[in-house]
Amino acid sequence: MEAAAIKIHGIVQGVGFRPFMHRMVRQYGLAGSIRNTSSGVELELEGEREALEAFLRELPKRAPKLALIEQIEAEYGLPPRGLTGFTILRSHAEEKRNTLVSPDIGICEDCRRELLDPRDRRFRYPFINCTNCGPRFTIIRDLPYDRALTSMGRFPMCPDCDREYHDIENRRYHAQPDACPVCGPHVVFLGGDGREVPGDGIETARAWLKAGKILAVKGLGGVHLACRADDPDLVKELRRRKERDEKPFALMCRDAEAAEKLCFVSDVERAVLESFHKPIVLLEKRDKRPSPLSENNWLGVMLPYTPLHVLLFGDDIDALVMTSANLSDTPIVFQNEEALERLHGIADGFLLHNRDIQTRCDDSLCWVVDGKEYFARRSRGYVPFPVRVPGAESAILACGAEQKASFCLSRGDYCFPSQHIGDLKNAETLEHYERQIAHFERLFDTKPRLLVCDKHPDYLSTSYARQRAAREGIGLVQVQHHHAHLAACMADNGLTGPVIGLIWDGVGYGDDGTAWGGECLIGDYKGYTHFGSLRPIPLIGGDRAVKELDRVAFALLREAGCDTSGIPNAAFFEKMLSAGLNCPRSSGMGRLFDGAAAILGIKRLASYEGQGAVLLEAAAEPDEGRYPVLLEGEPLRFDWRELIRGLVRDRDAGVSTGRLAARFMNTLIDMAVEMALAASRETGIRDLCLSGGSFQNQYLLRRLPQALEKAGLRPHLHRRVSCNDEGISLGQLMIGGASLDK
Ligand code: ZN
Ligand code: ZN
Ligand code: FE
Repeated sequence: MEAAAIKIHGIVQGVGFRPFMHRMVRQYGLAGSIRNTSSGVELELEGEREALEAFLRELPKRAPKLALIEQIEAEYGLPPRGLTGFTILRSHAEEKRNTLVSPDIGICEDCRRELLDPRDRRFRYPFINCTNCGPRFTIIRDLPYDRALTSMGRFPMCPDCDREYHDIENRRYHAQPDACPVCGPHVVFLGGDGREVPGDGIETARAWLKAGKILAVKGLGGVHLACRADDPDLVKELRRRKERDEKPFALMCRDAEAAEKLCFVSDVERAVLESFHKPIVLLEKRDKRPSPLSENNWLGVMLPYTPLHVLLFGDDIDALVMTSANLSDTPIVFQNEEALERLHGIADGFLLHNRDIQTRCDDSLCWVVDGKEYFARRSRGYVPFPVRVPGAESAILACGAEQKASFCLSRGDYCFPSQHIGDLKNAETLEHYERQIAHFERLFDTKPRLLVCDKHPDYLSTSYARQRAAREGIGLVQVQHHHAHLAACMADNGLTGPVIGLIWDGVGYGDDGTAWGGECLIGDYKGYTHFGSLRPIPLIGGDRAVKELDRVAFALLREAGCDTSGIPNAAFFEKMLSAGLNCPRSSGMGRLFDGAAAILGIKRLASYEGQGAVLLEAAAEPDEGRYPVLLEGEPLRFDWRELIRGLVRDRDAGVSTGRLAARFMNTLIDMAVEMALAASRETGIRDLCLSGGSFQNQYLLRRLPQALEKAGLRPHLHRRVSCNDEGISLGQLMIGGASLDK
């Protein structure tokens, strides 16, 4: 018999760790106590040495899904005190301070088995869940996390459920959203006229879907529009009704095997698809041709993540389009009445239920890179789990950017990035944004002492921060957009800097008042120097050039001294450009991609920002060709004129579009390496952060890091937050924090 003192560091509070410990300690015939500390938990355990060691060996493997164990310290051989049982030592102040809110968790294997077992009392019950799975973030109104303060408050438990809830040996012990057909919520199916269709709602929905109808399906964080994915005309019809431009639709496939019929699925991609987060994973299409589902190389695929979805697919539906139900850039529809009203005429029928969604949360979206998620959108299944950044300052609210808006709130060194909010450019989205900020502050019991926002004077997030800072008398720090990207990537990788940052995106407000977006910065959380950039591109007609790519193409060709006569309206553009009339200059990498896409005839009229770049990437065919890279001036500017001349020359010589697209990107990779090396030579820094929306380009992302490594640099990609503007709030937060001790 001996005692051991054990310290577990990491995110182990508020994730069901102590009940789990209770069960495990009993199983191993040990006794002792547990208490929360500022860095994790401390255990005092007594028992046989062998049992203690076996306990510690097994612990990391069996820990609750959300627990993030960073380190275990154990000291054996202490004198036993003769403890019996297992005591949870509580400090209430600490409880509240350290409580985390779980993200929504995809259905677990145990629940799936019960769901499909005719002998189980929850057979085919679409709301089955347990301690390890089910809704969380989206049903919580307030803390403490208690049934009464969730959407389940109006469903008192029946005696059977209540018994499970109070039995520590039961897998539903303290599962707040637990319910059964006797006591819990139910689905209802309504026709297009809003009238209830009698019978089994899910069976009706299945029949309607199979018959080629478009349905609204209420899920976890909002309503989807769903239809069969195998009927191109139907998918086109959905596009027409939803007024969705050319952006790809997401699919839900019955299982990984069904996904494999449409896409290539590697083992790691499969693991992420099947993980409890259940994100949409961007998978490479088997059939590369553009289709009504997706015009590019990727298909966004997710697996059924609620029991309702599992039942909806049955064993005979392979794939459904599952796209967020929202119109003209407003937030996703999430309430029943709202769905019936706003989706009238869009959905042929409605599969709804009476478990209210408290908080909207869109599906997450990622690629799988280096064996894990590389986010385009970190939302359902991940939010509101914190990103821990050692050195982060507490009680800061960073307000994000504008497109792909997000905010980030800190408590201790836990940073809580918000879910996907949408583009902050209409009143509804702004309201959603402000509400979510208030919700996070309440959930995490934190009032900000400092606000941080972008330098762009016209962002709604900037005016929100300014007004609030003035109203509440708190400090405000405004951060340059690309500096925030750099800091986000540093924080994401736990770096303290200084680092070199290659920050490539569409647009951000530069320190000189022009639009930046192809920048090389050197810096850390305290500040930066502007080391490199692109030769600025004149945007003929300003914002119109973001959609009318010929305007960019004309400017590139003209500056490169190439023939512009092939471009419609060339004479008009010439007039504007030579008069300098509404031709602001931008060093945005996105614009260079757009211009190249138009010159290569890939895309001339974009229906959404970044489409030119997406399609240029999709067009690329294997080719090792590249053009000379010219860097000059201070900041060091990439002169793209030689690149444009090369493209035009080869295009006119009959080289295929696909090979030219590859040569264009190969040249950018060479440029990135040369610029980074120049920065490294000057500073001796080898750590290099890649951030900005351009690094969603998988052609670049899967070649550039290798090229940088070969050149002796240490590249860092985003790992926990997105490289696009959604990730900016984390960087803002760190920069704001660093300003506090100046
Ligand atoms: Zn479960
Ligand atoms: Zn019940
Ligand atoms: Fe950006």
